[in-house]
Parts: sequence; C-alpha cells; structure tokens
Amino acid sequence: MNDLWDDSEASKFETELELRAYSSRLLGSDPNLVLHGGGNTSVKIAEENLYGKEEEILYVKGSGWDLATIQPAGFAPVRLEAARQLANLQTLSDPQMVNELKTSMTNYSAPSPSVETILHAMIPFQYVDHTHADVIVSITNTESGSEFMKEIYGDEVIYLPYVMPGFDLAKLAAIEWRKQLTPSTIGMVLLNHGIFSFGDNAKESYKRMVSLINKAEAFLHKKGAAMNWPNEAPKEPDVDIETIAKLRSDISKKAGFSAILRCDYNPKAITYSNLPNVGVISQKGPATPDHIIRTKRTPALARDIEGFSSEYINYFNKYSQELLIEGKEQKTMLDTAPRVLLDAELGVIGVGKTSKDAKIVTEIYDHTIDVIMAAQQLGGYRAVNAKELFELEYWSLEQAKLAKKGATPELQGKIALVTGAAGGIGRATVEAFLKAGAIVLGVDIDEKVYELGNNENYLPLKCSITDSEALSGLLKEAALKFGGLDIVVLNAGIFPPSKSIEAMDLDLWSKTMEINLNANVAILKATYPMLKHSPDGGNVVMIGSKNVPAPGPGAAAYSASKAALFQLSRVAALEWGKAGIRINTLHPNAVFDTGIWTDEVLESRAANYRMSVEEYKRNNILKTEITSADVAQLALTLCLPAFSKTTGAAIPIDGGNERVI
Ligand code: ZN
Repeated sequence: MNDLWDDSEASKFETELELRAYSSRLLGSDPNLVLHGGGNTSVKIAEENLYGKEEEILYVKGSGWDLATIQPAGFAPVRLEAARQLANLQTLSDPQMVNELKTSMTNYSAPSPSVETILHAMIPFQYVDHTHADVIVSITNTESGSEFMKEIYGDEVIYLPYVMPGFDLAKLAAIEWRKQLTPSTIGMVLLNHGIFSFGDNAKESYKRMVSLINKAEAFLHKKGAAMNWPNEAPKEPDVDIETIAKLRSDISKKAGFSAILRCDYNPKAITYSNLPNVGVISQKGPATPDHIIRTKRTPALARDIEGFSSEYINYFNKYSQELLIEGKEQKTMLDTAPRVLLDAELGVIGVGKTSKDAKIVTEIYDHTIDVIMAAQQLGGYRAVNAKELFELEYWSLEQAKLAKKGATPELQGKIALVTGAAGGIGRATVEAFLKAGAIVLGVDIDEKVYELGNNENYLPLKCSITDSEALSGLLKEAALKFGGLDIVVLNAGIFPPSKSIEAMDLDLWSKTMEINLNANVAILKATYPMLKHSPDGGNVVMIGSKNVPAPGPGAAAYSASKAALFQLSRVAALEWGKAGIRINTLHPNAVFDTGIWTDEVLESRAANYRMSVEEYKRNNILKTEITSADVAQLALTLCLPAFSKTTGAAIPIDGGNERVI
C-alpha cells in the first residue's frame, strides 16, 4: 500500500473534520482498500452546543457518500454519548437503531450515519479508519485465516470473527475490547470482512492503516500468494452481437428491468474464467460480505441464466425459511438474475441497471479474483457461510444503500444509436436521450460528434453512415460494453442543392440515394440482430421530411430518397412486428436551428416570400417555430410506453401544414 499522506497538503486543512475528510479520501483513492461506497471513517470532536455546554460529537461517514470523494458535508454528526450507550443495550432492532442514530444527530439535514456508527462510537480513539483491504480478506477468507492474522499482528490488533455489521458487531466488539485490549493495540481485524485502524490524530490513524496493510502484504509475498497476471492487451472476444444481445434479454427477463451488461475480457478475467476449478472457487461467496448487494452471492456460469435463477430461488426459500423459524421477519425475494457471469469467451460480465452500475460490478469482481487466487495459495478460498450472507443481502440497511433517490429516468437501461449526431436534430436527440438516462452511440462524419462527451453513457464515432465496417465495429463495441441495442434513430442525411429534373446531376442523385436510403437499409440490417432481443422491444425512429407527403419542386433527389425511406419503414414495420420492433417516422419541416440554415440563407428565403425572418420561421398553421429540440423530444417520446402500441406511423412535426393536412 502506498503511503499517500502529504504533510504540506494536510497543513492546508484547518479543522479536524477537514483533515478527517482528507485522510478518508486517501483511503478511498486506493481500490485495493475500498471500492464504491465500501469502508467508513469517523472522528470525535468536542463542540459547544446551543446552551454553551461542551458535547462530544461523532462525525461518521454518511450513507451515500464514497470515501474517494468525501467532503466534510458527507459526515453525519451524532451525539457520541447517545451512540455509545446503544452498545450497552441487550437488543436493538434495526429500525430502532436507525431511529436512535438519526434522532441523535445535531444536523437534521446531514446524511444518515453509517451502519457501523455504534462500533465507531465505542472505539476509544479520536480517529477511526475502516477498510475492506484485499489483502486482509485474502488472508482471512481461508481455513487458517485467524492463525495467519495472529502470526502477522500479534497483540497489535483485536480479533473478531465474522458477525453481521450493525448492532451485533458493535456488541461483540465491546465485549472483545475488554478482553483483548493491550497497550500496543492500534487496530482491529474483522475476519472475512476487513480491518480498522485508529489513532489520536488523522495522520496517526492513517499511518497505522498503512503499516497494518503493509505487514499483511509482506506476509502474502512471503507465502508466494501475490498474483501476477499476464500483462497483455485484451483481445476482442469472437462472439457475435446477437449472442450477447440474447444473453442480455434472458438476464433482463429475470431481472425485471432492462439490464446493461459489461464484458471485462482482459487477460486476467479470461484466464480466471477458464480455470478448470472456476466452477468451485467462484461459488463460495464474495470477498467481503457487503459486495453481495452488487454481485449477489455467486456468479452465474456458462451463460446458464435459467440454472442460476432456479438456484437463487432455492437459496432464498431455504434461508428465508430458516430465519422465519428463528423469529425473524418474512423477506421478499429480490429478482433472480445474476449480477456477475463468468464466461470462457466473454470473461467477467457485470450486470447493472446503468452502465455505471455494471462497471462497478466488474471492478468489484476484478478485485474478487485477486482475493480468491491469493486465498487459494494460502490453503483454499472460503467465504462467510451462505446463511450469514443471505442475512446481509436481505438486510434492509444494505438494500437501502442501493436505493436511488428520485424517479427512474425514462430511458434508463436503454441503448440508442443516433446517426448524424454532431449537429441539428441529431445532436438534440443525443442530448435529450442522454438526459433521459439512455446510453447513446453517436455517429457522424463531423468530428464534432466527440464534443458531446466520451463517458460511460456516450460512445461517439466519426464515420460515414455508408462505412459499414466502421459501423459494425461500433455495434460490436456496444455489445461488449453495454450488452445490446434498443433504439435506432436514423437521422443522418444530405440535402443536395435545388435542381430541376432535366438539370439533374445523376451522380448527385446516386449519392443522395446512397446516403439517405441505401446506408439506412444497411444499418437496419446490421442492427436487427440486437434490436430483436431488446428487452422491451426495439424501436426505430426515422427522421423523414414534410417533403414525403408534400414535395416541392427542385428537390427530386431529396424527396424521392426520403419517400423511399418512408416506404422502407412501412415494410420494416410489417416484417419486424413479430420481433416486437416498432418503426415510426417523423416528418419535420422548417427546422431552422441546424447547420444548413445560416442567417444569410434565412434572410434571403424570407425575402423571397416577402416576410421577416421571424414570420418566415413561423410560417405554419400554428404560427410556431419548430426547433431541433422539439423534434428530438418527439423522437424520444416515440420510444416511451405511450407509443408502445404504435408502429408504421408517420407523424408530422411542422406546426401544421395545409398541404399535409
Ligand atoms: Zn465494513
């Protein structure tokens, strides 16, 4: 473990709480210590209350905050004495614990205190740091874990067997502290779970974590248990896009939501997934129990979703029944879809509601592989038993960590391809879809397509829509990164200069057909294998034109290409309905906020009609201006449940046009 403490950096922080946040971030920045919301830290600070009386306040990590990015506002201020007294109770239910801790806070708008608050309260040091370090779980998730720990730490730490976090753990810790505390105690090991360090100031507590972890790392090296994985570039799996999309569909059906799949096929993931004993070592349980809410207890093997699901039902029935007999409350089964799959060709597949969630799952599993393999070298990987893991998985306080505030975005879990994404209607569509929670693949010949970002929700590609090889590469990338494709918005097109038929440049005619029509046929053909497995039914939105129902002179190539495209959409609607794919067309008119409509062009057109630019823009029945954003919003709406029973339709978005009506 790298010691990241920097005295000059630390000296910039004036308060104990700021320092607490600083050293928490140092821990959080190391994925070998904590991952995605794991771990927690605290500091005890004496403060004067409203009545002028000094009171000790425990600032403990609030739920929903991540150590990597935590700020002072991320700590929940709990009256220390109130939290400490809870550890003296004989029993305390979860709702009681939550209620007592929340009502003991000095700031009602602070986040909810960590489930480990009582434990932090009872530790008699000002600073307390807790991580789920890979090395600690590697060593303790073994038959001899407890002996190994004693060999490494002697009486430097207090040892606790695995128990449920929360009140039970705090209670056990209180007892063990009385038994095991020595003058050299600087930490506490929770077998199969993680490690604590503590100190009288931020630096001391952090440095003790470093020293404890380094001792464990040295032990792993001494035992030859530190893994070295092949350091080669990942090789793209040779699996077709339809196979991946079908897998996503099967998982989504069990999950009850449109799942995002992320394939991690780096050499480590592939090597691990192909180990002869992977079916045994991967089925014991997570590296540290709180991973279970993201990974479930075990990964699915060999794309067997049905098998995983029925085993999950057995697991639920068995342990919910046992807990019921012990007087615990009835649990409601979560969905039965896996969150991790191990696949010989695709490597480790992470499943989530969003691309971020799926990525988190693969990152957690990446560390799990290290932990399992190291533990294998130390006598064999073991994990907390299934029943205790079940209790944690179904612990309301754990599930609360996953609950997102606010409504689910309309297109969450949906993956959309938008052509002509760099400007005008295409760009507005990308923006609207991203805002609605979709993952978007943006294609355009203009490199402005990269301006819309490059993050886990947006995959841009500069290429012509006639470049079928580049497009098939993009579709493959989408399959491996997200699991499939749900929506195609065919927007890209060209509008050649006005020409009468007798003066037509036939090459330009062909080029117009090539782009506006032929390329779109090829895209439909290429995306069908994924669209037909879209969990809620695929959607194609064609951007047509008012020129289809009401052509104008001088635009033969454009009008004919768009009319043919519309006819294509009607045939596609007929052919693909059985696969649940809907194809609808928008016919926009007079959308002036696009690249082709410069101020100059607008002024000359308006002058032609003896209108002001403003009048010209609103030259329709409703006297309204149509913007790219309006078209984008309608394209988005076509993909929502309101239109789930509509296909083959053409909808004008033109402010009302007498020739069309
Ligand atoms: Zn923990």
